[in-house]
Amino acid sequence: MTIKDAIYQLEDLIKDRESFCQRDDFDDIFLQDIEACKMGIKALKKISSVGKWKAENTRPKSPVFVCSLCGKKAYDRPYGSAKHMMNKKNCKLKYCPNCGARMEGME
Ligand SMILES: [Zn+2]
Repeated sequence: MTIKDAIYQLEDLIKDRESFCQRDDFDDIFLQDIEACKMGIKALKKISSVGKWKAENTRPKSPVFVCSLCGKKAYDRPYGSAKHMMNKKNCKLKYCPNCGARMEGME
């Protein structure tokens, strides 16, 4: 089963649980099932999303990279450090520090 299949199954489960909510013996437990499925879908989408870095050359000696998914900036070195972790054309951060997405190379 792929992540895409799992998301489809969870969406189907949500529809199933929602149909229970129309019944006379309605129970809060169905709403909790729906909430759990929604959280699962969100987590699966997050771990399966892959972003790319885009270089932004506003600081010539210390390149800034922009995440293609969240649009937020990441820097090439920790604040206060003089050591560059990457060059202008290649961001080595494997995960976006802002949205947590897995990153695969440059755009
Ligand atoms: Zn991001």
